[in-house]
Amino acid sequence: MQYEGDVYRPPSEARSLIIQVTIGCSHNKCTFCHMYTDKQFRVRKREEILADLDECRDTYGPYVQRVFFADGDALVVKTELLLELLHYVKKNFPYAERITSYGTAKDVLRKSEEELVALRKAGLAMIYLGAESGDDEVLVHIQKGETAEEIIAAGQKLKRCGIQTSVTLISGLGGSAGMEAHAVKSAELINAMNPEYASILTLHLSPESPMAKEIQRGEMELLKPDQIMDETELFLTHIDSPGTVFRTNHASNYLALAGTFNQDLPRLLREVREAREHSRYRMESWRRRL
Ligand code: SF4
Repeated sequence: MQYEGDVYRPPSEARSLIIQVTIGCSHNKCTFCHMYTDKQFRVRKREEILADLDECRDTYGPYVQRVFFADGDALVVKTELLLELLHYVKKNFPYAERITSYGTAKDVLRKSEEELVALRKAGLAMIYLGAESGDDEVLVHIQKGETAEEIIAAGQKLKRCGIQTSVTLISGLGGSAGMEAHAVKSAELINAMNPEYASILTLHLSPESPMAKEIQRGEMELLKPDQIMDETELFLTHIDSPGTVFRTNHASNYLALAGTFNQDLPRLLREVREAREHSRYRMESWRRRL
């Protein structure tokens, strides 16, 4: 099987079989994101995807346990095809416990609840939703193409339909001027969605991204590690989302946090404050491994 271009997946899908259902991202406009800028978005031909699944069955046997549909937002694909692919995964890999994909809020809102329930019954267990921020000013600035209200509505819809959600936010997206609103409104977004999983990445730009050029022009600045801790602390003090599993374990982060809201909030806050007090951050060389 030949992957087309670079393939990205969430950290928790490191051991999953990755199947490219789409090439690129259907939005492909976020100013901080360079992942798919070299790809023209398209849904792959049904026959190609099924052939990949057959080849993987021949190579790995039937015991694959996790499958991740790439690229950017496989949930954009028509429900009929997604259902066929999910059934085919189950046929080829009867021991598969979990099938997941990226999806945008718009992808979720475009599908009816009946369609989402059918996808869940066919095996779609979780959607990774890149919210990035709960602040509409930030969302407009980064050209996310979605409002906080739409992202919340998508998360609540997935919950009603029994599909788990893993929401990603990005620390530093508001710069120093917008830091407070970004932190507080992102916490409010998580509270309203009450997702199964939430994680924070730290803004880390490729030099070619439009946002890197903004920074070069002096129109925005990257936050320093202490400021990232201030933002994380503010975010955590506004969280009320019982049961959400929280992680900052991406290579971009200065500090790795892991816990469950709300029960672990006092410990998480203590760890953030101690890291800031002693400047106990991951080395830049670690972050540059990205
Ligand atoms: S951040 Fe997500 S939605 Fe935005 S361009 Fe990148 S892959 Fe697409």
